[in-house]
Amino acid sequence: MNPSAAVVQDQFLKVLSREEAVARFRAALRLQPLGAETVGLDRLAGRTLAATLAAPVDAPPFDRSVVDGFAIRAADIAGASETGPVWLALNGETIACGTEPRLVVSAGHATPIATGGPIPRGADAVVMIEHTRFEADAGLAVTRPVGPGQNIAFAGSDIARGETLLRRGTVIGAREIGMLAAVGADNASVWRKPRVAVISTGDELVPPGTPLRPAAIYDSNGPIVAAALEENGCVAVRFGAIPDDAALLEATIREAHAACDAVILSGGTSKGAGDLTYRMVETLGEPGIVAHGVALKPGKPLCLAVCDGKPVVILPGFPTSAMFTFHDIVAPVLRILAGLAERPEVTVDARVPVRIPSDLGRTEFVMVALSRDPDGAVAFPIGKGSGAVTAFSQADGFLTIDALAEALPAGSAASVTLFAPHVAMPTLSIAGSHCVGLDAVISALADRGVTARSLALGSLGGLAALKRGECDIAPIHLLDPASGLYNTPFLSATMRLVPGWRRMQGLVHRPGDSRFAGATSPAEALAVALADSDCLMVNRNQGAGTRVLIDGLLGGQQPPGYWNQPRSHNAVVAAIAQERADWGIAIAPAAAALNLAFIPLAEEHYDFAVAREAQNPAVVLFEAAVGEAGDALRALGFTPATGN
Ligand code: AMP
Ligand code: MG
Repeated sequence: MNPSAAVVQDQFLKVLSREEAVARFRAALRLQPLGAETVGLDRLAGRTLAATLAAPVDAPPFDRSVVDGFAIRAADIAGASETGPVWLALNGETIACGTEPRLVVSAGHATPIATGGPIPRGADAVVMIEHTRFEADAGLAVTRPVGPGQNIAFAGSDIARGETLLRRGTVIGAREIGMLAAVGADNASVWRKPRVAVISTGDELVPPGTPLRPAAIYDSNGPIVAAALEENGCVAVRFGAIPDDAALLEATIREAHAACDAVILSGGTSKGAGDLTYRMVETLGEPGIVAHGVALKPGKPLCLAVCDGKPVVILPGFPTSAMFTFHDIVAPVLRILAGLAERPEVTVDARVPVRIPSDLGRTEFVMVALSRDPDGAVAFPIGKGSGAVTAFSQADGFLTIDALAEALPAGSAASVTLFAPHVAMPTLSIAGSHCVGLDAVISALADRGVTARSLALGSLGGLAALKRGECDIAPIHLLDPASGLYNTPFLSATMRLVPGWRRMQGLVHRPGDSRFAGATSPAEALAVALADSDCLMVNRNQGAGTRVLIDGLLGGQQPPGYWNQPRSHNAVVAAIAQERADWGIAIAPAAAALNLAFIPLAEEHYDFAVAREAQNPAVVLFEAAVGEAGDALRALGFTPATGN
C-alpha cells in the first residue's frame, strides 16, 4: 500500500462525532461574509445588506396634507360647528401634488389642497373637504374645528435624515426596496453571494430529462443541492453528473475549485472500487480533508475538506443522506459566507407521537411530516431509509436524535428543522395505505381549497394514527381472513367507514411468457407456475391485504421467490416486467401500466376509516369528493363502492 492510500484509509476508519467534525471544518475556514458589492434597486430583492444605511434625506421631504381639503389656521375655525359655521375667504390657488404653494394663508383665509400637496406658509392644519361647504357668493363654510397640526404629515415624520433606515444583515424584500426608493437610493451594498460548484459523481447517473438506461438512475442530488444552495443565499454553478473516471473527475474538480468559492460533490464517498473523489480532494489544497466518516445516521460517509480556504464537501450518494448532512453541517457555513444568519428561523416545536428507535453513538436524522392536532404541532417520522428521495415530498423537515439517546420516546417534544422557510400545515391529514385513486380525490379537494396531505403509513399505521387523533382519515384495505370481510372488522367503536372503491387484484405475468399461454383462470396459471421450479414468484410483505390473499392461494406452499416480499403493487409489477420474477399478485392498474398480462382473482376493498366525532369540516368535503370521483376512479381502473 502506498503512503497516501494509507493516509486515506486512516481517515476513513477514523469516524468522528458530529461535533468534532463540525469543529474541525469550521476551524479551517474563515467564517465571515466573502465581501460586499453594490447592486441596483431592480436586482436587490432577496439580497442581504452589507452595511447599515442612514436616510440621506427626510421622508416626506416637506410638510404635506394627508387629506383632500383646505389648508387653514386652526385658531380661525376653533368655534366652527354644523349650526354655527365659520366663513373663510378662499385663496386664488389650488395646491395639487407637485404644486409649490405661492400664497400665504393669512387669518380668515383657506387654500384648497389635495392629499400629498405641500402645506402653504401660514397654515397650521388642514380641514377635510367633507367638513366644509362652498357657496360662490359667501365663500367657504367650515363646520368643524381641527387642532393645530391635524391632517399634516410633517417633513421627516416617516424617516428623518440621518436616522437608521435599514440594518446590516437585513434580507431585502419589497418593503425594504420601498424604503430605499422613498429616500432616493437606487442601489445598496449587499454581501456577495458565494458561487458554489455542484458536482454529482457516479457511472450510474443520468441527467433528468433523458431516457433511463438499464441499471441507471437519475441524478437527483445535483438538482436538490443546487436548489438548496439558492434557498440559502448562494449561486449554484451546475457541473452536472460526472462518471467515476479519475481523469475526468480530477479535471472537473480542479476547474470547479478554481472558479468557485466552494465545491459540493456527492457520491463516491464509500470505499467502492470507482469511488475516487476523496483522493482528488486530498490533493486540491491545504489543509485538505478534515473529516471523512462522521457518526451520523444517515450520512456516515460525509467528507469535509477545506482546500486553500474554500470549503470542499463530498456529500453521501443517497439523496436523503445528502440532504440531511447538507442542511445540518454545510448550509450553516455557507450561510455565514453569504452574510446570512447561520440558521434560518425555520424550526417548529412539535410533539412526536410514536417512539423512534435510534442507534447509540450516532447522531440520527429523522425526516418528519408536520400536522396539527388539538394540542399543537405533531411531527410524524417518515421512515423510508436513506435511499428514498420521494420521502422529501412528504417531509416538512427533520429532527435530530442525540448520539447518546437510544430512542426518542413516544410523546417527546422535538424541534423540527424545516426544509423550506414556509410550511403550510395541511387542512386535511390522511395517513394509511396509499392508492393512485386517492390522488384523484385529493386533486378534486384541492380545487375546493382543501389542502390534504397523505402519509403512506400502511393500513395498520393509519388506523393507529387515527385512534390517537393524529390524522383525519385513514385509508385502509385490510382483509379479515376469519370472516372474509374487508375493513369493517378492524374499526374501533369510535370509528366509522366511508366507502371508497374496489381494486381488482389478479395474477400478473409477462404477456410473452409462453408457460402461461393456455392459462385463463388463476388456478390454471398457478398450476403452471408451481409445476416449473424455474418459475419465480414475487410475494408481498406480511400484513398486506394482498399477502393474505396470496397465502390463501398457496395453501402453505412456498414456491421459489416466496421470500422476495416487496411492500407495494408497483414493486411487484416492476419485478415481473424486469424479469427478476415471473409471476405475482397485484392490482389491475399497476399491471396495465407496465403492459403485463392480468388474470382477475378477487376484488380488494379500499375504504376510509374516520372518527365518528370528526371535528374537521374538511372530512365532509372529502366524503363528497370521494362520491364525485366516480368517473376519475373508473378511468383509473377502479370500481366505486357506492355505485356512483
Ligand atoms: P456512492 O456514495 O457513490 O457509493 O453512492 C451511494 C448510493 O447513492 C448509490 O446507490 C448511488 O447510486 C446513489 N447516488 C449517488 N449519487 C447520486 C445522485 N446524484 N442522485 C441520486 N442517487 C445517487
Ligand atoms: Mg458512486
